[in-house]
Amino acid sequence: MKCPFCNFIDTQVKDSRPSEDADSIKRRRCCQNCGARFVTIERREIPEIKVVKRSGAKKPFDAQKVLQSLRIATRKRPVSNELLEKIVSHILKKIEKSGETEISSTFIGQLIMNELAKIDQVAYVRYASVYQYFNAVDDFSEFIQRITKQNEKKQ
Ligand SMILES: [Zn+2]
Repeated sequence: MKCPFCNFIDTQVKDSRPSEDADSIKRRRCCQNCGARFVTIERREIPEIKVVKRSGAKKPFDAQKVLQSLRIATRKRPVSNELLEKIVSHILKKIEKSGETEISSTFIGQLIMNELAKIDQVAYVRYASVYQYFNAVDDFSEFIQRITKQNEKKQ
């Protein structure tokens, strides 16, 4: 790290400590040339994620849009906003973990559907029909089978 005062290359790290939220590390540095002391903050780089639509168009990933689509799907359903926000951050973490910087909108839709399937079947069907995930007849029959199995377990 270059010294911001004299541009000297060799600065020394005096100490490192994690910030309160543990998302970053503060390093106290000292310039070997001019003796200036300064602090650097090291933070994990969050790559910009692009969503590739079915048309091939690319748009930056927008967590708010995902949340909005979840709100629409769960409207008047007993699902808290808090839970929806958790789902969004869960999905975002999954995407980040994949290391991909370009994600297809279909894949995101699939992640959303997986989460909805766990919490509310009505919302799941709504989402699937709004975003036309029942393109293939196979998908739909598979879905019906899954729902039937789940209901059998409950009885
Ligand atoms: Zn310096």
